[in-house]
Amino acid sequence: MCGFIGMIGYHDCAGDILLALQALQHRGQDCAGIGTISGDQFPVVRKLGLAGHSFSPDDIEHLPGQVGLGHVRYPTVGSGLLRDAQPFWYRQPGVLMAHNGNFVSLPTMYQRLESESVHLMSHCDVEPVLCIFALELMRRRPRDHTIDDAVAALQATFEQAQGAYSLVAALKINGRETLLAVRDPYGIRPAVWGRRGRSFVVASESVALDALGATLAGDVAPGEVMFFQRGAEPRRVRLAETRPAPCIFEYIYFARPDSVMNGHSVYGIRLALGRELARAWRDKGLQADVVIPIPDTSRPSASSLAEELGLPYREGFIKNRYTGRTFIMPNQGERTSALQLKLNPIRSEFAGRRVLVVDDSIVRGTTLRRTIQIIREQGARQVHLAIHSPPVLRPCYYGIDMSTRDELAACAFTSCREDHPNRRQLEDAHREVERRLAAHLGLDSLTYLPLEGLERAFPHGRCAACFDGNYPLELTTAQQQWLERDRRSSVQRQLCL
Ligand code: SF4
Repeated sequence: MCGFIGMIGYHDCAGDILLALQALQHRGQDCAGIGTISGDQFPVVRKLGLAGHSFSPDDIEHLPGQVGLGHVRYPTVGSGLLRDAQPFWYRQPGVLMAHNGNFVSLPTMYQRLESESVHLMSHCDVEPVLCIFALELMRRRPRDHTIDDAVAALQATFEQAQGAYSLVAALKINGRETLLAVRDPYGIRPAVWGRRGRSFVVASESVALDALGATLAGDVAPGEVMFFQRGAEPRRVRLAETRPAPCIFEYIYFARPDSVMNGHSVYGIRLALGRELARAWRDKGLQADVVIPIPDTSRPSASSLAEELGLPYREGFIKNRYTGRTFIMPNQGERTSALQLKLNPIRSEFAGRRVLVVDDSIVRGTTLRRTIQIIREQGARQVHLAIHSPPVLRPCYYGIDMSTRDELAACAFTSCREDHPNRRQLEDAHREVERRLAAHLGLDSLTYLPLEGLERAFPHGRCAACFDGNYPLELTTAQQQWLERDRRSSVQRQLCL
């Protein structure tokens, strides 16, 4: 998972891009990069670590130009090394590119590039896409490319580059600096755009626009490319037939609550998830004295759940704001040690009480076991856990870091191994996971959000494949195996360093 920003304005934009990247920092903490177009130059600066910490005023000074891209990276293909940091740049005809998502057809793209003697410098999956796009543009004409050339080149590129992605690029079209943004035909990964005065901004989330004082104008539509040039209204071209299926996990966990994506407030969806979770909890006939969120993501759902159940809502954990998000740390060792720094309990909120703790999801579950232990140590009389999403039973091949089934906690606690489970099988698996995982974690009860609760909370087209196995973009077995192998070896490479 990553975050990007693209900007075309009327003054040097690198400083603004750096500001926006800090609003997107939750989408990736491994590396950050900024690239601009300045005359005939394409300066790029890429750094390891947090955007706000790693760029100096000197770096920004060396990134002049009124059009540019920024990126924060969390690797789901390739590693967290600097060579994989974005944006990437291709010399001919001069293109900058950055993306969020996963391309699932990488072996095919590698073959194409090998056949044209194009060599790559990284393991990042946007680099081959950039190279193919540049080759396709140059095939049409050697210079003075038009918007029609760019559209044809994009269509040819995305016939080869399949996956879940939103992508920004900067190049010259009709001799003018141009920013373009594309979203895959399912709109799995988010992309919004907006205006600030006469400048245009595109980004993974609307919080980046807020940070710049830009006004949200809408989404880059699934299967669409938008072209932005100074002094002209954006031009929109449909590249492919669409069937919108935005990632529901963005609303459950990943996006900031103050973001609006696909026209829906993330905060509003989390409140709805909490109300649905309250219904599931009430149906079980369980009792609690207090509702406590595991910060930060589940705060909205815990508050609406408490409201529905008429229970007091309390903050039982204080989060150390100087540690990172454990889920997006690249390996398990880092995730476990980070947790010990991260949450400090307030004993008085737990002691002697039947506590209903709310969390957003259980992916690997490794940090949860210790969290439950901490709650027990505070003297809680009962510990119940409610999760505002269903059990994660299938991997994600679309850019969230859970691409192998054997890393998913729920899979270890169900006998369901169906690739395409029906509703009945899913409900059976759901109950089995609740029962067996609760015992494993030492809980008095575990309540997941039922699938129908998820559907009521988000009654729109969506990808929920990690919960229900319905992948909008089907992968071949070879593609699945390739992605799983890549993920395992990337983690291994990092552990060896
Ligand atoms: S499989 Fe899950 S995490 Fe992946 S895109 Fe679909 S909903 Fe999001």
